[in-house]
Amino acid sequence: MNYTLVRSAKRKRSLSLIVKQGELIVRAPRFTPRFLIDQFVASKATWINSQLSEAPAPSPSPNFPDESSLTKYIRSELAVYSQRLQLFPLEVKFREVTSYWGNCRSPGILSFNLALRYAPAPAVTYVVVHELVHLKHQGHGRAFWALVKATYPQTNEMRRTLRQLSHALRSTHHSRRPARPTL
Ligand SMILES: [Zn+2]
Repeated sequence: MNYTLVRSAKRKRSLSLIVKQGELIVRAPRFTPRFLIDQFVASKATWINSQLSEAPAPSPSPNFPDESSLTKYIRSELAVYSQRLQLFPLEVKFREVTSYWGNCRSPGILSFNLALRYAPAPAVTYVVVHELVHLKHQGHGRAFWALVKATYPQTNEMRRTLRQLSHALRSTHHSRRPARPTL
């Protein structure tokens, strides 16, 4: 478990813990050996985890200042990758949803989550490529991923970024279900 250790210069005799803004801070007397501190922290794991999960996560700041800058970016990326892949959606929709980053449920119709404004631009591009490739391959089979990764080499990295963002958004908005990139 990660923690910030504060050594007390005063004649402090005991160890203490606080959780502040999602961070665990351990105060210890100056000469207490590290292994004893680790043992102490481990013995309090249940309490620490309950405190950490209650701490409100900082609200992520949007990478796109407003919805229209996001939709403009998505449309321009769609134009670029539609040409490259020779795959053209019939219709593009933008929605505020909690269950996906993008989807391609109806034939030819792509939807994008407006919460993508919290994602960095390369992650948005990945979602665009992902959805366009669904116009050719419906499921998430080998052929699907091969084409996505060939078209957008940062795919794995951006999937990680989006997973972290889902988590951040979920802890910020407690009622939200995690947003997932498509399905
Ligand atoms: Zn998908």
